[in-house]
Amino acid sequence: MSVDEKKEWNLADPGVLRELLSRHGFRFSKAMGQNFLINPSVCPRMAAACGAQDAAGVLEIGPGVGVLTRELAKVAPKVVAIELDRRLFPLLEETLAGCGNVELIEGDVLKLDLRGLMEEKFGGGPVCVCANLPYYITSPVIMGLLEGELPLTALTVLVQKVAAQRLCAAPGTRACGAVSVSVQYHCQPELLFPVGRGSFLPPPKVDSAVLRMRMRTEPPVSVADKVFFFRTARGAFSQRRKTAANAVSAALGVPKDRVQEALQSAGAPPGARAEQLTMEQLAALSNALWEAPIKEES
Ligand code: SAM
Repeated sequence: MSVDEKKEWNLADPGVLRELLSRHGFRFSKAMGQNFLINPSVCPRMAAACGAQDAAGVLEIGPGVGVLTRELAKVAPKVVAIELDRRLFPLLEETLAGCGNVELIEGDVLKLDLRGLMEEKFGGGPVCVCANLPYYITSPVIMGLLEGELPLTALTVLVQKVAAQRLCAAPGTRACGAVSVSVQYHCQPELLFPVGRGSFLPPPKVDSAVLRMRMRTEPPVSVADKVFFFRTARGAFSQRRKTAANAVSAALGVPKDRVQEALQSAGAPPGARAEQLTMEQLAALSNALWEAPIKEES
């Protein structure tokens, strides 16, 4: 057993957590999205659902004081946890003492070379991500992980409920955004269970949910160029009040009539908004723009 049996930290106990934090003079940083879990059932359920047993290891983003990290260490061969707030390291040294299969990395998940890190720490083997994500970077973290050509099997994340709904939203529905397109292209998302605001210290203003996104082996649509497809999708959703043609034209610098033509060939009405486009139509739109050279304006 890799977790030290001598000190079985009950970090989900608010009394234990408060004592630890006050002993280290730690104050929560709102700017870093610090809401620590105090519901004892959430971390074991996340650790059980994330697929750690079948992976070379787990990547955790934002271990905080290590409440989820300790659960992951019980089920995963190896856990690598990236934490931005260096003030937490003395606390983590204490709470993770004896967890020989955990490695802490100090850094900003949005700035680190995750591909290099995974190669170095997991030897190119399959990796799953499991995290209670800082809410202020939910979308960029998930987009970066999905679009970074990483050896991922699944992402199991605790996020705000509205973010979970957006991440799960299918193209062609109102809640869909650019991040939903990326999620649906790369994986099959499922909402696992809700987590109320009272499950955190300090409690956030909104409820949350745990979402699992299993990576697909084959994408659901065929695209001529993946990077261009995501640029087109991001462009389409960049100005939600505009038509998709206007938004894509502005974002990609392609004349509007060209985009309208491409939309028509994709089987979508020229005045459609991004949220009305299906995955197939988004793919056909980007393929048409990618394949046909942009006409020179006379
Ligand atoms: N895992 C802990 C838990 O469940 O109690 C803490 C989760 S808390 C919502 C988010 C954590 O992410 C905090 O520890 C915070 O310091 C860390 N964090 C914030 N921004 C980060 C970033 N850019 N890169 C890595 N960690 C970050």
